[in-house]
Amino acid sequence: MAKRTRIIEGTWNCSSCGKKGILARYKKCPDCNNPRELTGEESEFDFGGTDAKTGKSLRESVADEKALEMANAGADWFCAYCGASNRGDQPICKNCKAERTDDAKALREEEDPGLPPPKPQQAPPPKRTWRTVAMVVGGSLLFCCGSSLIYGVWASWTHDYAGQVVSAEWKRTVFQERFTPVTLEGWRDELRTQAPRMPVNGTGEVAGVENIRGCASRQRGTRKVPDGTERVCSTKTRRVACGTEEKCRTRNKGNGFKEEICEDVTKYCSESYEDCRNETRYRTEPVYAQHCSYDTYQWKELDRREDSGRDEQPPRWPELSAGPTDRLRREEKYSIHIQYEDDGPRKTVLEPKTEQEYLGWKKGQQVTVTVDNTGELKNAVPR
Ligand SMILES: [Zn+2]
Ligand SMILES: [Zn+2]
Repeated sequence: MAKRTRIIEGTWNCSSCGKKGILARYKKCPDCNNPRELTGEESEFDFGGTDAKTGKSLRESVADEKALEMANAGADWFCAYCGASNRGDQPICKNCKAERTDDAKALREEEDPGLPPPKPQQAPPPKRTWRTVAMVVGGSLLFCCGSSLIYGVWASWTHDYAGQVVSAEWKRTVFQERFTPVTLEGWRDELRTQAPRMPVNGTGEVAGVENIRGCASRQRGTRKVPDGTERVCSTKTRRVACGTEEKCRTRNKGNGFKEEICEDVTKYCSESYEDCRNETRYRTEPVYAQHCSYDTYQWKELDRREDSGRDEQPPRWPELSAGPTDRLRREEKYSIHIQYEDDGPRKTVLEPKTEQEYLGWKKGQQVTVTVDNTGELKNAVPR
């Protein structure tokens, strides 16, 4: 890639008489003969505009032999005595004939800052990482559930109150159950023929599975099965080399001239293309299995007796007799009714699990109840 170099010339403004646009080759103002100095912005040269794409100067190249020689004479220095600008290769001030001294100020030869790097032609779409997903999910959780979370915290706050047992109630039920033949249905592969065994004094029974019959195919569920492939395409973009483009930079000669270096560099363009792949397609199909009838045994309720009482009446079981293959199943339920004062009279119910626990409570007993903000009883202890 060949480099093309050329010299361009800046202009300056005379701060003594106000003349504008004096070519850099003139170290004295052509109107008032005042020498160009470092002060008064006389040595801040204007080089005109540049092409936004290439950075190439819009100025004409310098062709004049003498001007080209000046451009290559090195950076200007300023006489310590009279302030006039002088060619870098001249040791004597052209204005006052004084010698160049070590403390004489000078301009510098340097690279100009280049063009800013070109912006990517298409910004890549923001990737949805797990982090942004978490933020989105978390945000909506907070949005939808924030108030219920606050409610949950509020509801779980508890308060203690002084209360009193107003009544104690119990209810007991005895069920007489008989091991009875029944016909049920089930999946063939889950049934294994087994002989039943009758209970002795209500225990040791085996339900059994006998006489499996009447099997028929029936839908048991569904499953997904591969059903060919599908071509899935999406349009994507990529950067590709697409010829060359001119890029220019300049080097300030420190004397009102610049060297411009232009070269052709690879140009990149964004190109869209189809990104395709094969994806397996699935379909749902029913799953069938054999469904059969069979004989077995189940406990069936034959009779029940119920009894209940309150306060001073101790709990007792109702009388019920059972045959040799029967069993008796018992259920008990206990309730302690407590009244306490909040901003008015409140009632709550404690449900002991066992008789022993129930007998620990008496009507008229003083208790401390712990209740949460929804009124649910959390704890009760005698006082
Ligand atoms: Zn002037
Ligand atoms: Zn001088």
